[in-house]
Amino acid sequence: MNAKDRKRAFKKCNNSKTSYATYYDAAEALRRIRQKSNAPKKPVRAYKCECGKYHLTSMPIADANTIKKKVDERVKKREERFINRETEYWKKRFKIRD
Ligand SMILES: [Zn+2]
Repeated sequence: MNAKDRKRAFKKCNNSKTSYATYYDAAEALRRIRQKSNAPKKPVRAYKCECGKYHLTSMPIADANTIKKKVDERVKKREERFINRETEYWKKRFKIRD
């Protein structure tokens, strides 16, 4: 791996967190850290990253779900807009009045 590739690889995974090859490794590290550390913001879970490895995060799963929910809502709104546009189009086309 040359310097350019390394840079790209680093860029792909934009966090400098420790990475673990398997979920098991990450979970083991998580358990150890949680036993030792008294830091207020301890990692709470492991997750699979886009880089293909596992990292630890202190983001509770509830927060991650909130983010997912927001994205879902955005998708839903976009779909609704699309359906409304389609409905308007066909109403005009067949001169339907409601
Ligand atoms: Zn990563």
